[in-house]
Amino acid sequence: MTETNTPTALIMIFGATGDLAHRKLFPSLYRLYKKGRLTDRFAVLGVARRSLTLEEFQESVRKSIVEFTGEQDGLDEFASHFYYQSHDVTDSSSYIQLRELANKLDEHYGLEGNRLFYLAMAPEFFGTIGDHLKLDGLTDTAGYKRLVIEKPFGHDFESAQELNNRLRQAFSEEEIYRIDHYLGKAMVQNIQVIRFANALFEPLWNNRYISNIQVTSSETLGVEERGRYYEKSGALRDMVQNHMLQMVALLAMEPPIKLNTEEIRSEKVRALRSLRPMSQDEVNQYFVRGQYDEGTINGESVPGYRTEPMVDPESNTETYVAGKLVIDNFRWAGVPFYIRTGKRLGSKSTKIVVQFKDIPMNLYYNTDEKLTPNLLVIHIQPEEGVTLHLNAKKSGSGMKTTPVRLSTASKSIDRMNTPEAYEKLLYDSMRGDATNFTHWDEVALSWKFVDAISAVWENTKETTFPNYAAGSDGPQVADQLLEKDGFEWWPVENLEIDNC
Ligand code: NAD
Repeated sequence: MTETNTPTALIMIFGATGDLAHRKLFPSLYRLYKKGRLTDRFAVLGVARRSLTLEEFQESVRKSIVEFTGEQDGLDEFASHFYYQSHDVTDSSSYIQLRELANKLDEHYGLEGNRLFYLAMAPEFFGTIGDHLKLDGLTDTAGYKRLVIEKPFGHDFESAQELNNRLRQAFSEEEIYRIDHYLGKAMVQNIQVIRFANALFEPLWNNRYISNIQVTSSETLGVEERGRYYEKSGALRDMVQNHMLQMVALLAMEPPIKLNTEEIRSEKVRALRSLRPMSQDEVNQYFVRGQYDEGTINGESVPGYRTEPMVDPESNTETYVAGKLVIDNFRWAGVPFYIRTGKRLGSKSTKIVVQFKDIPMNLYYNTDEKLTPNLLVIHIQPEEGVTLHLNAKKSGSGMKTTPVRLSTASKSIDRMNTPEAYEKLLYDSMRGDATNFTHWDEVALSWKFVDAISAVWENTKETTFPNYAAGSDGPQVADQLLEKDGFEWWPVENLEIDNC
């Protein structure tokens, strides 16, 4: 890892008039600039199809900063580093112009030939852009060249491998930064710290003391205008293949011998390799799916998935997935990892609940209440923090117990939280720290795991769809999945830090 605190780079954003650029990338770059993490030696070259003058593009950058950060200090100076080229990425001829502009900016700002190519575009263009960057000499540079690539990375293992082989013609594995924006979130990074910096947890982090782990990522939003993409993806590809499995890998991995990119990644890969593969017959025992019907969210009526724009009225696409993952190694044998994720649920929340086993002998059973298990709750969004659920003595006479919570929270508004992840990831990619990006081996293993499920689901029409109302906690089948093992989901609303 080459590390400098204030990296110089030409950041070339493909898709610079798009939603991601405006909502996340420009505001994140501005925050880095304000914090002094970008010196004056940087330039952003925006590329998109729309024809815009330089002034119009810089104005769009200024607008995005004001809208999404609420600040404008030093904005004119910041926006003066932004350049634009209207360019259809499928048109070979315009890459030469792009190279010339890149070389000029390099010289003008003293960028030492460092180039970050950020593909904030639909995935079907990733391969073409990669080919041209090499063929037309944009990757021929004296400094570093790195490719930052948005999800989805492929549609299944086969297409991901094809894309990877193509990109590898122009960039080495070390130069490819596959974004999983969950990995940019502070509390996801904090999983490592909680595990490896606390004498209290590490000895308990195994099947002797942990009964099960539950990872929940719920959204209140529906599919919005992404119907066309989502119909082909569904929750399994959109959330499980990447974010959910990444969180599981961080929770399950062995302690790395060092906290560096290679060691952490190789432990995550080993954790993913330990996931027990499912046969076709087992898929529906371990995984269940749901699709939202109409319902009410925050007092407003919302439509069912099948009536959303660009969605098939008979759609078989899942908007909810819950599953039980079995990790076949010494540490985790017998400990189920449950995951669930879905759209149009009652609350927006990403949380991990580590449920500890009951103590060997309960001296307090003769009181009227059963002891609540100890829980470690890692709040990822919208709140960020950790809560430890313990039992203490109830005040008053007698020896009754009562659950108590120890919490540390850094409350964040979600809108501020999300760009923050991109800010970290952009900064890391400029510094050459790939720890919080996904390695090809992780992508490959995750796709293979998920492909086994989609192979079954795509070929069987789910007759119960839609099977949960918008605004509910999801389909009943998700509850039954845990009931079979004698567990239940910890209701997210009861775990909020605010309820302490
Ligand atoms: P978008 O549709 O808003 O923007 C697409 C951009 O690509 C526009 O700038 C458009 O001009 C450009 N473009 C399209 N065809 C082009 C062509 N032939 N030549 C040149 N430019 C072309 O998309 P988005 O929401 O910004 O998403 C971009 C990528 O980021 C996608 O891969 C998406 O899955 C991923 N992503 C987006 C978000 C988000 O919050 N928007 C979050 C996570 C991942």
